Amino acid sequence: MVKLMFQGSDHELRPSKIICLLRTYAAHARELSNEIPKRPRFFLKPPSSLLENGGVVRIPEGVENLHHEVELAIVIGKRGRHIREEDSLDHIKAYTVMLDMTSRDIQNEAREKGLPWAEAKGYDTFAPIGPEAIPSGAMDPGGRRIWLKVNGEIRQDGNTDLLLFPVGRMISEISRVMTLEEDDIIMTGTPAGVGPLVDGDVVEAGIDGIAPLKITVKSN
Ligand code: MG
Repeated sequence: MVKLMFQGSDHELRPSKIICLLRTYAAHARELSNEIPKRPRFFLKPPSSLLENGGVVRIPEGVENLHHEVELAIVIGKRGRHIREEDSLDHIKAYTVMLDMTSRDIQNEAREKGLPWAEAKGYDTFAPIGPEAIPSGAMDPGGRRIWLKVNGEIRQDGNTDLLLFPVGRMISEISRVMTLEEDDIIMTGTPAGVGPLVDGDVVEAGIDGIAPLKITVKSN
């Protein structure tokens, strides 16, 4: 459970799952030599990976290449399955900022061997979130600058207009597979510029219109 600032007070977030889209920005797919998917594709992170704003991301023992990925995240407000794209906005509670922390070395090994990504993506502290959630009615998620700095230096600088799929399409496709529950989180994928983090790095990340997220990285 983590807290987010929502409509002037603390909101305790209790997601049943965190769904993460992949390769949703063409330039990021290219930088990792991946094909662009024809429809939204996704994987899961466990809720135990969540970390509040201001927290410490721990580099797990044996992880040599921890990467940052800044992402626009959707918080679901209403249960639904087989949600039609045109009805999807009714199911969004809020938008927030997240980091999809990734052990790129473990992920690359998994890709080569055809193994799942759960380990590369699912360690404790690998899903920093917040500090603020903006109600869906108060924000259009399109056309927003999305950025990330490491020790004050800009590393990712994109725009949500470059997302290959509208958020409604993502919600519709995911809900054909799994029922979306209130407080479930959808991470919409990262723009180009992902890269490694080391012990002591300070990461700030933001999306225009939402308060920025800040975390520190520490080795085990
Ligand atoms: Mg990601």
